[in-house]
Amino acid sequence: MKVVLPDSSELELPDGASGLDAARAIGPKLAEQAVLARVDGATRDLRLPLADGERIQLLTTRDTQDSDALAVLRHSTAHLLAEAVLRLHPGVKIAIGPPIAEGFYYDFEFPEPISEADLESIEEEIRREIAEGRSWTREEISREDALARFAAEEQPYKAELAREAEGTISLYTQGDFTDLCRGPHLQDSSPIRALKLTSLAGAYWRGDEKNTQLTRIYGTAFYSQTDLDAHLERLEQARARDHRRLGMQLDLFHFDEHSPGSPLWHPKGMTIYNELEAVRRRENAKRGYLEVKTPLIYDKALWITSGHWEKFRENMFLIPGDTDEQTYGIKPMNCPGHMLLYGSRLRSYRELPIRYAEAAPLHRNELAGTLHGLTRVRYVTQDDAHIFCTENQVAAEVDAAIDYVRYLYGLFGMEPHAELSTRPDNRLGSDEQWDRAEAALQSALDRHGMMYVIGEGEGTFYGPKIDLHMTDVLDRSWQMGTIQYDMQMPERFGLTYMGADNTEHMPIVIHRALFGSFERFIGILVEHYAGDFPFWLAPVQARVLPVGEAHREPGRGLRDRLTTEGFRAETDERDETLGKRIRDAELEKVPFVIVYGDRESDEALAVRKHGGGQSTLSLDGLLERFRELTEP
Ligand SMILES: [Zn+2]
Ligand SMILES: [Zn+2]
Repeated sequence: MKVVLPDSSELELPDGASGLDAARAIGPKLAEQAVLARVDGATRDLRLPLADGERIQLLTTRDTQDSDALAVLRHSTAHLLAEAVLRLHPGVKIAIGPPIAEGFYYDFEFPEPISEADLESIEEEIRREIAEGRSWTREEISREDALARFAAEEQPYKAELAREAEGTISLYTQGDFTDLCRGPHLQDSSPIRALKLTSLAGAYWRGDEKNTQLTRIYGTAFYSQTDLDAHLERLEQARARDHRRLGMQLDLFHFDEHSPGSPLWHPKGMTIYNELEAVRRRENAKRGYLEVKTPLIYDKALWITSGHWEKFRENMFLIPGDTDEQTYGIKPMNCPGHMLLYGSRLRSYRELPIRYAEAAPLHRNELAGTLHGLTRVRYVTQDDAHIFCTENQVAAEVDAAIDYVRYLYGLFGMEPHAELSTRPDNRLGSDEQWDRAEAALQSALDRHGMMYVIGEGEGTFYGPKIDLHMTDVLDRSWQMGTIQYDMQMPERFGLTYMGADNTEHMPIVIHRALFGSFERFIGILVEHYAGDFPFWLAPVQARVLPVGEAHREPGRGLRDRLTTEGFRAETDERDETLGKRIRDAELEKVPFVIVYGDRESDEALAVRKHGGGQSTLSLDGLLERFRELTEP
């Protein structure tokens, strides 16, 4: 048989040859360094046979940044972890141990609880295994044999997995440890050059809180110590930038146990919020959106019409009435109100598109355990809008929304990328409708040269959607806004417009939020800038420091002048040394500090820029500078 190599050359192999055989046929060095085969884009264990005509790529220990090569390394390390834990904690029950985005984990039921302190000895044991050397062998067995084996070993979780496993059941063995596993795995442990067990957490068996709570050990592994060090450094930076910490430190917001998941915005945080709100209003007005305001609570009947009663009730806060029918629900989304607005009178095709915008507070009863600072909240404010249009207008509307997104994210130096989710199996509407809808979304992404991946079958039942992501300075990707095509909600609300043909047609609705939510967006901005906001967003833009008592009056005069010109300025008149006051302003990341002493006047001001740089500017020069830095 023949397989095709990445350079399109063909390699002749005996029938049934494995990935490892292919590596050997190419050269001994490659055979030694190979960690994984990628066959027609999917990963395959090196020990498994190849088939005629397959296009193969062999990943090696030099593919240190490849996510598949890292996954096989990390998953193999998870097996070493299980081996170590079984040796150190006899009687432990083992569950599952997959690779994850930044590492791996393994779930255990320990006979006695363990603590973070135990991770060190476990890690030591894994190092010993690696020093000794481990190699993996793979075997396939029948379900009966697998069940008998794990029953004998008193491993009930493994037995349960073997009972339910589909397809071939395989075992991987290293040293005296055997695991039920599909693979793939490394040939041996030598490529694992750096590892770290990072944390412990509780995790329910199969993610179901009715099941036993297991102990999850998280870890990570790399092909080199340098890569592990860089990873730990990134984690450290992320910790230092954590918006929950910076939010308190910079006096932006806090959370209170009396209303979990609902930020209390402090004046400085509110300044940032309002600047974003100003951008939203200004850009919406420029781009033909109409501001509206709709109720926060609606009765049950409306939620039944919108479908939320059936699909979203568990996430809604309900207000009981005298009878069940009088139950009210606090809105988790703005859509129903906008449907009522549109439907309040007869519409003509000449009015379309209609773009209603509203940034109302929404409430979603997220599980307490999933709440996370500003990035996962119960009180959420979207920069929401609903566009009512004809099917022919969809492409242009989506195109304009993408243009809007590029502008918005560009303000923060962030490049948007997207995921286009296409038709799921369970869907409404005809194939022709879906063809047109998907094409409209995709062509808008293409026209703007936006990077995107396709989530095959990941669309909602009522239409395809674009999820917007952005990458921050630490190279982390965040999901932000969304643009969703909807052919269902207009139907549920019986919305129509009078067409040029004098008959009624149903409009399409496009739901879109571009920041996503103000809460989440600000949380991410805090981390992106590490609190060092650009001038136009900074809660305090300039701080005047009078040198002595005699300078307080003229210092206040300067502050008032800056304030009158529309800038956010304050004085620091505390009885602290000038040095201390300058340092505090640096810590608070105030963009400009103006020291006001004997030599200062409107003609000559001593201006210090945050992060370095001192200059002498006239008041007019300073104002000019501030205007230039103000967001366009
Ligand atoms: Zn495995
Ligand atoms: Zn909506």
